[in-house]
Amino acid sequence: MRLSIKIPVLIFLGCLAAGGLGSVFLAAGLASEVRRSFESRSAGLVRSLGAMGASLLSAQPPDHVALQKALDNLEEFGHGKAHGIEWMAFVDCAGRVQAHTDPRRFATRLHELPADWLRCEKDAPSAPETGEDGLTGIKYSGAHLLVAAPVRLETRSGTIAASFRLDEVGVHEAAGRRRVFFFTAGFAAVLAVLLSLLLRSAVARRLTRLTEDTEALRRGELERRSGVHGGDEVGRLASAFNAMADRLSKHAQYLEQEVRLRTRELESANRELQRLATTDPLTGLLNRRRMNEVLEQALEHHRRKQRQLSVVMIDLDHFKRFNDTHGHLAGDELLRVLGLRLRTRSRAGDSAARLGTEPPASRSGSFPRGSLESSPDGVVEDRDAAAARYGGEEFVLILPETSKADALRVAERVRAAVAAAPLVEALGESGRVTLSAGVATFPEDGNDQDALLRAADEALYAAKHAGRDRVVAAPAAPPAHARPSATPAGTPAGGGT
Ligand code: GH3
Ligand code: MG
Ligand code: MG
Repeated sequence: MRLSIKIPVLIFLGCLAAGGLGSVFLAAGLASEVRRSFESRSAGLVRSLGAMGASLLSAQPPDHVALQKALDNLEEFGHGKAHGIEWMAFVDCAGRVQAHTDPRRFATRLHELPADWLRCEKDAPSAPETGEDGLTGIKYSGAHLLVAAPVRLETRSGTIAASFRLDEVGVHEAAGRRRVFFFTAGFAAVLAVLLSLLLRSAVARRLTRLTEDTEALRRGELERRSGVHGGDEVGRLASAFNAMADRLSKHAQYLEQEVRLRTRELESANRELQRLATTDPLTGLLNRRRMNEVLEQALEHHRRKQRQLSVVMIDLDHFKRFNDTHGHLAGDELLRVLGLRLRTRSRAGDSAARLGTEPPASRSGSFPRGSLESSPDGVVEDRDAAAARYGGEEFVLILPETSKADALRVAERVRAAVAAAPLVEALGESGRVTLSAGVATFPEDGNDQDALLRAADEALYAAKHAGRDRVVAAPAAPPAHARPSATPAGTPAGGGT
């Protein structure tokens, strides 16, 4: 049950219980008041009738008839009910009835009266014979109130007694109880409404707002703060809620920052990993696996655009001998320097890392024609070219949108530059090396990667065979049905130009 309903209901029940308890005491007080008033009225009636009876009895002989008549009149007036009188009688000091509302009781003894309520002639008029109320006795007997008062004459004395029915008292008590009940219930209801309105605005409404704030926070609205204020418990709860929300949002911000940081670190680590996985550690060129990807991608693009693409396969001459002469470390250094030259201004040179990390899809169609040149020192200046270490001391240059003639020119410049001066200056002239190269062009020498590389390899073999230190172009592939499967492409085609 919601608090805004529970509070008024509980208050109402509480007020009703308190009112019920109060009404019990109130009803008891009211009942005793009704009884007191009833007794006082009955006593007054008896006393006034006693005065009247006294005058009648004082006649010699007593005027029984008049007395009886007066009582009859009284009874007739209210049918014995106007005052709740059950019966009334005058008795002498011996307790014999001198007059009675029931004439049959005349001269009989009025046994209802206790003996000490009777007054006799011998009693001195001045003797205290009654209580403060002027009665000789008053008591409840069953469902009746019995009242007796002295009747004093000059020569004689007697007692007037009357019995009153309590019906009227019961009616009054019941009515009083009803009034008390309705008053209590009404009061409890009004009090409940007032208190619940008060509590509703003081507690329930604020708690409801606080509950909504908590729900919002739970949904993830971390910027939500409670607008409930006050120095009471609800206010303190709201302050604690706000402090908690502050900490939560700060913590969330911290976590977001951490996640961003970690993500950046992870991306950088991934890039590095990708670079390591795609480059050759000694020369920094593309490794063979990556070269295959790049070439495949480039061929796809050039096939679509129907453009030419050339590859240059390079192999150092007598490198084994170089190793034997200068040692493997010097051999490594030579490979590193040559790699540096090949990559310096080629696509795989100044942007080797970029090529290494770019996913193949993003590079598709990324081989527009660039300025194809090789500088006098043999550096490939085609920014769109890619250089790879094919294996050992073998390298491959991929030259996009390059005809065979242009590719031969690039390769020749590289060859001439390497042959012109020692790559490892520290070794002096003894460190001078030469290289041989084979050039093959798509689509004329091969329509796919394997065919193209095979053609370049065959041209390289031809260069070696022809005496090394030269560049040889692959012959245009004859039609498939006419081409001898094992014929090496060994004819120099521009080598040494
Ligand atoms: P050719 O002119 O016929 O090519 O003769 P070559 O001596 O170069 O013959 P080949 O290509 O068969 O020999 C390659 C040599 O390259 C063999 C190997 O010792 C050396 N080599 C391969 N990879 C490395 C390397 O990473 N570092 C060093 N220092 N030497 C290497
Ligand atoms: Mg070799
Ligand atoms: Mg070699």
